Amino acid sequence: MKALVAVKRVVDANVKVRVKPDNSGVDLTNVKMSINPFCEIAVEEAVRLKEKGTVSEIIVVSIGPKEAQEQIRSSMALGADRGILVETTDDIGALEVAKILKGIVEQEKPELILLGKQAIDDDSNQVGQMLGALLGAGQGTFASVVNVAGDKVQVTREVDGGLQTVELTLPAIITTDLRLNEPRYAALPNIMKARKKPLEVKSPTDYGVSASTKLKTVKVEPPAERKAGVQVKSVDELVEKLKNEAKVI
Ligand code: AMP
Repeated sequence: MKALVAVKRVVDANVKVRVKPDNSGVDLTNVKMSINPFCEIAVEEAVRLKEKGTVSEIIVVSIGPKEAQEQIRSSMALGADRGILVETTDDIGALEVAKILKGIVEQEKPELILLGKQAIDDDSNQVGQMLGALLGAGQGTFASVVNVAGDKVQVTREVDGGLQTVELTLPAIITTDLRLNEPRYAALPNIMKARKKPLEVKSPTDYGVSASTKLKTVKVEPPAERKAGVQVKSVDELVEKLKNEAKVI
């Protein structure tokens, strides 16, 4: 069976983001970009299913600027077979991404569609669910265990206060949670091999989607600066400060 994995190019999780002086967004100048960590988990899961013989081909898709090819190549170095870049420099919204993915699913007909549970740049947590609705497909979101058997997949979901296992009929959508797996590091020979794997470049209009989003970011603000801490010399001093300065006890 084919697996389709959606990977988003985002600011690397270890970068301390800077907000643009006009508060219109995050400053991306000279900032390290990477695969969204949850998408990397989705690629890893697809690769493990391929290693088990369940999946025969892994297609990776990214929607974004031409530089998103880097994240597609990184996914190929982890084991994906080919890539599709849907190139756009527009600020694209979750619904438009889901519509483009729907177009790709209709063309490629994958049985498994893997996404991250959320992108760490805008924390939307919407695309997988929207795609499920657009396709009329079952969805197992926040997956921490995935077991494919025949034309079904069982997905254990991390829900508030516990775990829920659902069974979906393929084709189905799975969005990955942190504990699903630990992605491998790409080996150098695989990074070299990834350069030769096929990568198609498309545009949103190829899927009948206009990239302009209905969502406008009004303002982006950094979190309030934390005040520097003070060291106290004794428990008595701590209690005194908590009582009289912080007034929390
Ligand atoms: P979100 O709903 O935006 O938090 O994203 C959830 C998941 O949807 C991500 O982890 C990706 O798998 C997928 N996704 C979102 N945006 C894109 C994009 N521009 N290109 C490819 N996949 C995306």
